[in-house]
Amino acid sequence: MPYYRIALIGGDGIGPEVVQEAARVLKAVEGGGLHFSFEEAEVGAALYRRTGEDLPRETIELCRQTDAILFGAAGLPDVRHADGTELVPQITLRMVLDLYAGVRPIKLFPGVPSPLALPEGATIDYVIFRENTEGLFASLGGGSKVGEDLAVDTLVITRKGTERIVRRAFEACQGRAERSGRSLGKVTCVDKANVFRSYAFFRQVFQETARAFPGVRTDFAYIDAMTMYAIQAPWQYDVIVLENMFGDILSDLGAATVGGLGMAPSGDVGDRWALFQPSHGTAPDIAGKGIANPTATILSAAMMCRWLGRQHRDPLAAAAADRIEAAVGNALQDPTGRTPDIGGAATTRAASDAVIKAC
Ligand code: NAD
Repeated sequence: MPYYRIALIGGDGIGPEVVQEAARVLKAVEGGGLHFSFEEAEVGAALYRRTGEDLPRETIELCRQTDAILFGAAGLPDVRHADGTELVPQITLRMVLDLYAGVRPIKLFPGVPSPLALPEGATIDYVIFRENTEGLFASLGGGSKVGEDLAVDTLVITRKGTERIVRRAFEACQGRAERSGRSLGKVTCVDKANVFRSYAFFRQVFQETARAFPGVRTDFAYIDAMTMYAIQAPWQYDVIVLENMFGDILSDLGAATVGGLGMAPSGDVGDRWALFQPSHGTAPDIAGKGIANPTATILSAAMMCRWLGRQHRDPLAAAAADRIEAAVGNALQDPTGRTPDIGGAATTRAASDAVIKAC
């Protein structure tokens, strides 16, 4: 009987508000033997204020012992280290658990307003594969500041790190074609290979890895031009793979085209562990008001079910993922299921109730 232990980590700001709604949705798709049990753990800036720690050892242990992690968001702009950086336990967890693939679907749901005027019949539906453990973020906790006049962070690209994220991107492209019944799509490598050796190396490893996937088309764009294409013609993308920092930026830009950060789910996936969380942060400006959009976190919970289904060869978990995604689609068609950020007036609870009803 599929029985999954889920580490539930709310974090700061709206994190706990949206995570609790996603947990309710998971409860709504239980049945037929599928069951989730939640074990809560703490991280974040408020915890740091209280205890001096933002990512306790017990939280990391729980993440290692459970079947998957559902995470809200962490960090508050006014809680910082002496060097001026914020607390980022969510990024430390990616490094500690080697969650190297940042999977970020960018999908426009019918009924959700996009700031773009799409041509008749076009839609936005692509996935960003952000390398999650190296690139410019390899400097996390390192970097150096020399006196009052110089600070340096280093960008790191390795063959192993690039091969594994590129392979994941190609496999996802194959999976998307299988699931939708259409012919094989394309993987776009986004970099700055015209200027930097590190990105030229990223592109070289991309091209070498691509040889193992002969049916998949390849495509290249420089990150500066890519920010324009993502606005001008987002419908032409299928799977995009890129370095950590570029992925961080492009995924927020992509989210803006499909209704904002409240609509952008994500998974941080490794070979053994995986953490699912909305792409957004703690949104201190709306925390405690009961109006945060829970959709990104609910869709992240659906991604978690799909991942559990694959890891455990469990059709019930895979079916739960389909049910949640379909329910989100249905709920969003009705304005009463939409929060203010996407043009409605629903509270966080009312929006997740609409999804639960549609489940
Ligand atoms: P943010 O994503 O928190 O907010 C950006 C804007 O989007 C805000 O106007 C906010 O109200 C809106 N927004 C975000 N999520 C929303 C939702 N679910 N529903 C409706 N509106 C939503 O980004 P920020 O303001 O740059 O960062 C705030 C804090 O979050 C910072 O301390 C930052 O370090 C942290 N952060 C954490 C994560 C994470 O834990 N994964 C990611 C990004 C930022």
